[in-house]
Amino acid sequence: MIKNTILNAVIGYPLEHTLSPKLHNALYKAAGLNAVLLPLEKENLAKLVETIRFLSVELTAVTMPFKRDILGYLDFVDEEAKTIGAVNTVILKNGKLNGYNTDIVGIRAALKGVNLKDKKVLLLGAGGVALPVAHVIKTAGGRLLVWNRDSKKAEVLIKNVFGPNSKQAEIVSLDQLTAKDVDVIINATPVGMFPNVNESPLNLSLLAAHQVVFDLVYRPMKTKLLLDAESKGAKTILGITMFIAQALEQIRLWSGKNLSGLISENELISLLSDSK
Ligand code: NAP
Repeated sequence: MIKNTILNAVIGYPLEHTLSPKLHNALYKAAGLNAVLLPLEKENLAKLVETIRFLSVELTAVTMPFKRDILGYLDFVDEEAKTIGAVNTVILKNGKLNGYNTDIVGIRAALKGVNLKDKKVLLLGAGGVALPVAHVIKTAGGRLLVWNRDSKKAEVLIKNVFGPNSKQAEIVSLDQLTAKDVDVIINATPVGMFPNVNESPLNLSLLAAHQVVFDLVYRPMKTKLLLDAESKGAKTILGITMFIAQALEQIRLWSGKNLSGLISENELISLLSDSK
């Protein structure tokens, strides 16, 4: 290890498929930052936080299943992260652990240029990442239609993000919808993810040319849902765009440096697409 190298980490359990080390380390190298990001995999969050403090880890990327529970260990939590009750980034500064949610920034970056105001946005899934998606749609003034296998979870998601009795969000069942009822589609389920690359969460008949379709799944980069959407002439957004944007925001929060554009998105995508 080089002298004075700053240690950063990604924590989660399990961590075998994380792309964070590859992405962060490529960006640190390109920016001449003397730092390395390593995976710290453990089931016990308290022990991980102890390790972060002991090793003075400056930036910690937090992934499943700790995004919610980590809040109990932090000295400061950013307002938007507090609103959704999930943190994916911890910065250690002057002995204090500060929590942020850069998934929110990543989702906004991926949807940049998409007009969401009063648009009907179909969100598939009500798990961890559906929460920041719903928050982004709410703050952009979109109308949220949530579908989830377990509709109780969709109900909880709507209540948590929009509050009770909101007219801005509702639960839907897919067999009641037609393509014209939906302007934007966001997949926040793992359907279509490697190795099940031939699966799509939506029937082709619900896709149409006027739509924007954003799949959060990024392994493969272009999922069956996105290929189907393209075949109907819809605009598509890759999940990796969000992943890269959220990582750039993590680096900005930690180092103060904006590295966007330092390596082109296409180069980063080809670097990451070697990973299974
Ligand atoms: P999670 O908390 O485990 O939630 C999974 C959601 O998908 C739940 O709503 C679950 O429904 C639903 N689901 C699971 N299997 C399903 C199936 N076979 N059919 C229909 N619905 C199914 O996971 P998460 O953290 O929200 O992540 C969801 C996806 O987003 C993952 O593929 C992840 O890789 C991706 N992601 C991408 C980024 C990015 O930067 N692009 C960031 C975070 C996550 P039930 O409630 O009914 O179980």
